Amino acid sequence: MTDKPTYEALERRVTELEESNFELKRAVEPLRESEALFRNLFERHAAVQLLIDPHNGNIMDANGAANAFYGWTREQLRQMRIQDINTLPRQEVKMEMEKAKTKQRVYFEFQHRLADGSIREVEVFSSKIQVKGSDLLHSIIHDVSARKQAEKALRESEQSFSQLFESAPVPMAYASDVDGYKETTWNEAWYHTFGYAREQAEGRSGDDIGLWVNSADRNRFIETANQQHYVTDFETLLRGRDGAVHNCLLFGRFIDKTGHRLLMAVYLDITHRKRADEEREKLQAQLSQAQKMESVGRLAGGVAHDFNNMLGAILGYTELGMLRVSPTDPTYGTLADIQKAAQRSANLTRQLLAFARKQAVAPKLLDLNETLEGMLKMLRRLIGENIDLAWLPGKDLDPVRMDPSQIEQLLANLCVNARDAIRDTGKISVETGAVTFDEIYCAAHVGSVPGKYVLLAVSDNGCGMDAETRSHLFEPFFTTKAVGKGTGLGLATIYGIVKQNNGFIDVHSQPGQGTTVKIYLPRNTAETGRTTKKKDAAQAAERGHETILIVEDEPMILDITTKMLEHQGYTVQAAATPGEAIRLAREHAGEIHLLMTDVVMPEMNGRDLAKNLLSLYPNLKRLFMSGYTADVIAHHGVLDEGVQFIQKPFLVQALANKVREVLDEPK
Ligand code: ADP
Ligand code: MG
Repeated sequence: MTDKPTYEALERRVTELEESNFELKRAVEPLRESEALFRNLFERHAAVQLLIDPHNGNIMDANGAANAFYGWTREQLRQMRIQDINTLPRQEVKMEMEKAKTKQRVYFEFQHRLADGSIREVEVFSSKIQVKGSDLLHSIIHDVSARKQAEKALRESEQSFSQLFESAPVPMAYASDVDGYKETTWNEAWYHTFGYAREQAEGRSGDDIGLWVNSADRNRFIETANQQHYVTDFETLLRGRDGAVHNCLLFGRFIDKTGHRLLMAVYLDITHRKRADEEREKLQAQLSQAQKMESVGRLAGGVAHDFNNMLGAILGYTELGMLRVSPTDPTYGTLADIQKAAQRSANLTRQLLAFARKQAVAPKLLDLNETLEGMLKMLRRLIGENIDLAWLPGKDLDPVRMDPSQIEQLLANLCVNARDAIRDTGKISVETGAVTFDEIYCAAHVGSVPGKYVLLAVSDNGCGMDAETRSHLFEPFFTTKAVGKGTGLGLATIYGIVKQNNGFIDVHSQPGQGTTVKIYLPRNTAETGRTTKKKDAAQAAERGHETILIVEDEPMILDITTKMLEHQGYTVQAAATPGEAIRLAREHAGEIHLLMTDVVMPEMNGRDLAKNLLSLYPNLKRLFMSGYTADVIAHHGVLDEGVQFIQKPFLVQALANKVREVLDEPK
């Protein structure tokens, strides 16, 4: 290097020569001017420029901008090598310079160290130039630190976006409008929710993988996003990998990317919420149905009760009239017709009372299978020869505590309905079984209570029912049958009976698919109760001579019953109220053999009255009568087991027989 004079020395020498030789000076002038221009260009140019010897990395020259940028003077720089500035290991710098030399590369990205020790990101454009037979590298250096910094920040923000996207606990996806949202990116939660493995859905569109149950929804979603720039609460059905349909709420919005837009979507799977809502609505519907039945029941019960009393009077007076005229008298026939009509009306009111759960009952512990078996013959007659009746008794049934006549009503009504549903030939099956319901089942079925039940099911393969019919099934007077064919009281009666016995009903039916009515009656695990022996009702009305105290608040009924009993030879004390009955009993001189009392009266119920009178007449026999069981009885549901009971309205013969039966009972 020592034999190589400095640029300044050379310049000085040339100037000396020029000064001494005017000719030379003139000849070189244009050259000098051109040289000065380029020198200026190099030195004054705003871009940082270096001249480097690629063999060793020596910095041959540096311009003013370089001096300003690096913080070293031009002289200092000329003493340095590019390896002192470039942060790459020396060997690598050399290799890069080789590339520049062979023109393999003219653009580099490096980090340069400044005089103050700070490091800058630089872009270097290098070109090979020939200076006096040797190759030099002319490098222009751009400080791109700020840009790089911005790029890095962007990269980091994108990274944190994709991290946020990927790990968000809600299913998300995005796609670009460039390819018409074809290539979609899904996040972890999305894969999890819809059951896809990454390779099955990555980079494919929802349409492509069959995500949309209705493809039209996809277009609608994108359209809405386009119009409003965002979409909220977009409800749709999406299909998971396993085919299961999810109820989803979609939210979407556009994110601007340079040159294109990303449509970003968030999926809210509301399948469970939806199901719970539906469940709640169903329960609500069941509840209001139950409330409706309750109020209809009260109305029907109220009307039927009063009506029943009137019918009792009509029947009684008619019968009395019939006893007084000769059967050959034409009036007798008229009375018989009145009696028939009144009896039919009484049947109707009895069904209404049953519906209103106001049927007075005398429950017993029953083996349901045994009870049903005794009814099969009657049922076969009822349904006719063209229909098969299958009897499928379940094993090991616990007993139920019920009035056997109610079981008969249940079964007869169900079988008649099944028969009516079958056009020509068909099959009805009667089945029993033991079932237990837990809280979960009961939570979904209004009216059911957890516990052990005996099932009584009647199925048919008849016409079945549509939803409309099913929703009115238990309403009294709801019928789809022709006038005269149906009363609409069958299932209303069943409803009342089942409710009265704390059971519940389940109906399964579809048009053309037949019907199954399932009745669940609470199992009773107590010992079998005693069964009362029944007397043959067909025998002649029995007479007597005993004294009977009769208490009844309905004057007409009191009157008619008194007359009936007197007609049979009894001595009757009639009281309209319990108070009057007690007074009569106190004042009465002789024995009173029988108390016959209504169950529900304004002042005191029949049971309490009976207790009261027992203290005066310890041998007093008791017979209760009722058209229905109101308040007090409704609370207890029933009369005590074993008490003697007669349902209003009653016929003379039935009354006479019953009174005799009670009076003849051993003490
Ligand atoms: P009715 O039998 O007098 O019409 P119900 O209360 O017994 O009154 O029945 C009400 C209605 O329910 C019937 O008219 C019928 O439409 C429908 N129904 C009841 N049971 C069945 C059944 N097993 N198959 C088809 N429909 C039935
Ligand atoms: Mg019916």
